[in-house]
Amino acid sequence: MDAMERHDVIVVGGGLIGLTIAWRAAQRGLDVLVLERDGCAHGATRAAAGMLAPIAEIDFGTAGESLLALGLESATAWPAFADELAAAIGEPSRLRTDGTLILARDRDEAEALERQLAHRERLGLPVERLLASEARRIEPALVPSLRMALSLPTEASVDPRWVCDALLVAMRAAGAELREGAAVASVTRESGVARGVELESGERLAGEHVVLATGAWAGALANVPVRPVKGQIMLLRDPEGEGLVTHTLRFEHGYLVPRADGIYALGASAEERGFDLTITARPLYELLRDASELVPGILDLEVAEISAGLRPGSPDNLPMIGTVKEDGLILACGHYRNGILLAPLTATMVLDAIAGAELPDVVAPARHTHATVVG
Ligand SMILES: Cc1cc2nc3c(=O)[nH]c(=O)nc-3n(C[C@H](O)[C@H](O)[C@H](O)COP(=O)(O)OP(=O)(O)OC[C@H]3O[C@@H](n4cnc5c(N)ncnc54)[C@H](O)[C@@H]3O)c2cc1C
Repeated sequence: MDAMERHDVIVVGGGLIGLTIAWRAAQRGLDVLVLERDGCAHGATRAAAGMLAPIAEIDFGTAGESLLALGLESATAWPAFADELAAAIGEPSRLRTDGTLILARDRDEAEALERQLAHRERLGLPVERLLASEARRIEPALVPSLRMALSLPTEASVDPRWVCDALLVAMRAAGAELREGAAVASVTRESGVARGVELESGERLAGEHVVLATGAWAGALANVPVRPVKGQIMLLRDPEGEGLVTHTLRFEHGYLVPRADGIYALGASAEERGFDLTITARPLYELLRDASELVPGILDLEVAEISAGLRPGSPDNLPMIGTVKEDGLILACGHYRNGILLAPLTATMVLDAIAGAELPDVVAPARHTHATVVG
């Protein structure tokens, strides 16, 4: 009988979270294998807009403030992370640091923005109220009837597909291996400890550490309360190139995120429909309707792509990162709307978990009592 293939770390899931962990682990000299059921970065990561937006995404309440703290920490890591990736592939970084404008079309939306402004000011966050005329001076494509805007100058964005392409190169250069078309059927245990996986093909692989980075599908391999939240999004292309808008623009129920080469991500719906990726007309119509009320020029753009992805939602919108006490499985899942933002911090935390360090309670899988291995 052949000896079983062995690795220091088996990462299940080749989305942005799994690839980032694999890269960082390989850089530490660990022997890493990533197992991806489909193609690399074809899950939520492929659909994501790429906003690095801890301040724009802030929720009220304790969980909201915990998520803000994690988001701010990870946002701080992003410039060096993007620079390191860019150096690895010999290209300029595609991190965009133009900032975000949150827009109000009418009086009701302006009143809501005033409440958001007060909340962020109470927390000491960098935010500024702009008159409509000031917003239009920095973004001339905005409609003259704009009511008001908030400026979040420190918010950034990045194209997640560029990040994944770069991560693949960087992680392979660091020695990590990726197997696509390798669906994991179960986590295997020795004396109750997670020590490998069995593929749907029946092949078994051994790993000193097993990391679950399977996004919305985490519940299939562990008893974790992760649910899919569908997001439909479109990519628009300006045949005249960049420049229609330069800031990320956010409005009620949507956003427009500029990328390189005149591409704009217009998203996204939030739908609780299980593992359904069907493209439907209504959310796309509503996004185009609402966005064009603010930037009429988007209706002249080409539709380059329409897609849907499944955000890995958790009950408190905070990720589950760390070791499950009962069996040693390491979780890196439940990143919901912020997995792109939280990728660098997640990888740091997973490496800490591998080294046996305690992670902050806010991300501990144990806060959801039934985080144990199935199968
Ligand atoms: C429309 C949309 C817009 C978004 N915008 C943003 C944004 O602007 N900013 C932000 O920070 N976040 C955003 N997000 C959220 C972000 O995309 C996710 O939080 C993040 O991509 C999660 O990454 P992941 O690697 O955990 O999951 P995924 O990217 O879904 O990757 C999980 C991978 O695991 C694989 N897998 C699953 N089961 C198995 C198995 N049994 N065996 C092997 N492989 C398996 C899947 O095939 C998949 O490739 C958005 C999401 C959507 C849908």
